[in-house]
Amino acid sequence: MITMALMHTHAQGMKRLAFATGCAVLLLATIGASPSFNAQTPGERCKCVAFRLDDIQDYYLQKIQIRLMDEFEKRDLPLTVGIIANYFGQDEKIVSYVKQGVAAGRLEVANHGWNHEKFTLYSQGEQSDLMARTNDKLNSILGFRPLIFIAPYNAVNNSTFAAAKENAILYVSANMTLDRPPYHEKSDGLLHYPETTVTGDLSGDGARWLSYSHERTMEEIKRGIDENGFAVVTMHPMEFALRDGLNFRDEIDERQMEELDLLLKAISEQGYEITTLGDLALRNGP
Ligand SMILES: [Zn+2]
Repeated sequence: MITMALMHTHAQGMKRLAFATGCAVLLLATIGASPSFNAQTPGERCKCVAFRLDDIQDYYLQKIQIRLMDEFEKRDLPLTVGIIANYFGQDEKIVSYVKQGVAAGRLEVANHGWNHEKFTLYSQGEQSDLMARTNDKLNSILGFRPLIFIAPYNAVNNSTFAAAKENAILYVSANMTLDRPPYHEKSDGLLHYPETTVTGDLSGDGARWLSYSHERTMEEIKRGIDENGFAVVTMHPMEFALRDGLNFRDEIDERQMEELDLLLKAISEQGYEITTLGDLALRNGP
């Protein structure tokens, strides 16, 4: 329900901005458990792919949110989830699932705004307040403050980066259009891991939500790794929902789930490794 409201309100913005977010929470610092999923030769850069599941919230496409998190859990793969804080905390199924995933070191939590605001519409002080309120609420529920900010609509500007630093956020994830490369030499003290591809998106005319084939997403993953040394894949529950236009039902589009399965297999066959967004820095840094 919440996201439907957001979607109507922000349909224009989403159309222009290709609706992406950035989240990141470094589990190491917050939980004390290092989610290290594969051995690596010292000095060797991993060919790492992080998945971002945006728009985690109470009572919205609940079955789909949980199924997507399950798809990663059953394969023992990590996942970064972007939580909209004002709409999180009441839905026992969603909250307990996230808590368990965090405790097990499988889920990494990112700040995805208080009300899924487009941050660039706000001053630096306001952006900072929104990030702080979000992190405070997530801390009250989960027991830690996320270190990752997944920008709603992928919208970021220099004030966003300054606000992130004020909130002790280490990672920002937007997209490559709104946060330009190169990503390894930024001087602002933040780690930038923008989305490099998606599993679905709003159509150009804003009337439909599209689901992409695994082949298309895989090509863009390869390009991200070749050009920038990493790939970040954004998923939304919407592209895995049965739907009519922008009316989404909480029923799974099994064909698109199959595409996700094929994508995960293709990543593995390519010799790439799936990590959390926060782990990209640990595995891929200088
Ligand atoms: Zn979002």
